[in-house]
Amino acid sequence: MHTATNGRELTQRELYALLEAGQDALFVTDPSGEVVYMNVAAIHLYGIGDRIEQHGGSINLRTHSFEAFDFRTLEGVRVADENRPVVRALRGERYRDVELLVRRFGDDDPRVYVYSGTLLEGDPPLSVLTVRDETDRWRSERRYRVAFEADPAPSVIARLADMHIVQANHGMAELTGLTTDDLTTRSLTDLEPFHRYIDMLTIATNRLLSGDATHKIKMSLRTSDGAQVMVLLSARAIEVDGRQCGIYTFVDITALETEQREHLATQDLLARSVREHADERDVMAYLAIFDTLTRIPNRRGLDVRLAEEFVRAERYGSALSVLLLDIDHFKAVNDEHGHDVGDAALRQVAHLLQEACRGPDFVGRWGGEEFMMILPETDTAAATDVASRVRARIADETFASISGLTVSIGVASFEPGTTTDALFRRVDRALYAAKRNGRNRVEVATPGLYDG
Ligand code: GH3
Ligand code: MG
Ligand code: MG
Repeated sequence: MHTATNGRELTQRELYALLEAGQDALFVTDPSGEVVYMNVAAIHLYGIGDRIEQHGGSINLRTHSFEAFDFRTLEGVRVADENRPVVRALRGERYRDVELLVRRFGDDDPRVYVYSGTLLEGDPPLSVLTVRDETDRWRSERRYRVAFEADPAPSVIARLADMHIVQANHGMAELTGLTTDDLTTRSLTDLEPFHRYIDMLTIATNRLLSGDATHKIKMSLRTSDGAQVMVLLSARAIEVDGRQCGIYTFVDITALETEQREHLATQDLLARSVREHADERDVMAYLAIFDTLTRIPNRRGLDVRLAEEFVRAERYGSALSVLLLDIDHFKAVNDEHGHDVGDAALRQVAHLLQEACRGPDFVGRWGGEEFMMILPETDTAAATDVASRVRARIADETFASISGLTVSIGVASFEPGTTTDALFRRVDRALYAAKRNGRNRVEVATPGLYDG
């Protein structure tokens, strides 16, 4: 019946010792509620050591329950007499993990007890009641919740298993323009406007699952009116109602970002000043970073921008990828149709690439018939998608007097601690692989493989 691992049966004494050693309070009563057995934890929990002595060991759990305790739900609603844990157990009901606020008469502080009841068939049948004291856990959790509600920083508590939001504070409602109730019908990933950032949430959540906290991951959220806000996400794990959850806190950096972008958007700034005032110094600056044939940034412009994006990627731990594109067999285009046709094709490709840029993306002419796209906040997978789209777009394009053009594209992503030179080397090798593997294709640089 009670079998130990080596097959030997537990003795009566061993069984008894096990019950006594149990952390949970355990009561066994006959159908009238008379206690036939209770372990040390039970005597301790119900504080009935004295009574046992006075009553010569006889105690009725049902009577005691009514004399000594008031039961409420965690929401504070009084529990009807017939739903008291002991009454349910005596009725022969089997139930598990019913959490109740239990206040002992004469004691102001309620405690949180978790009850389970079951029935041992027999003659007479015996009711078994176990009780676990979870007051401490509940208190710390409630403290968490109060602090969480009062925290002005936009925060949500979400389950780690599926990222479903179980609670959201007012700061979060303000940030997203959704109500706190509305937020709790969603998953964290629902707040994500751009697929490329979902990885950030997954990374943060996986880190919590493996016991690490997350600090200041840069990502974006979608507001109720469809706008995008840039945020830094920090997250730490907590347990809520016995489930693994995370507190995700967001810092809105949209304003900061805009300001930085304004400082950094060399392209726009210079282009505008060239249009508005053909000031000599501006023209010089423009010429320094722009390519005159294609009117997109030149290699120096790319260098400046990439250095800026490197700083950001290092600081915020955000993703950053680059694409290096080289037109296939371009020499033949010049040879067959002349240099002017070649020039026009280069301008057309530059235009297409600019059209392919979204938000912070940046494209420049790397040199000759080679272009580079800088994709901030884009991981390798998303960058590869962009590259594939660009490749297909160019292959589909009609070029004047040329039957068709294709490009080969290398993809490489920033890794913490790497240099721009190392990234260039890697993306260059990836492009070379695309050429070698047949052209009109995309190849991704293996992380770190080509460094050094
Ligand atoms: P691959 O597929 O290996 O890249 O072949 P490819 O012919 O494109 O490569 P290669 O590097 O041998 O030739 C690049 C050509 O690009 C050579 C040059 O004539 C042409 N090119 C570079 N800059 C310009 C430019 O500003 N205008 C024009 N019309 N052609 C250019
Ligand atoms: Mg080339
Ligand atoms: Mg080429």
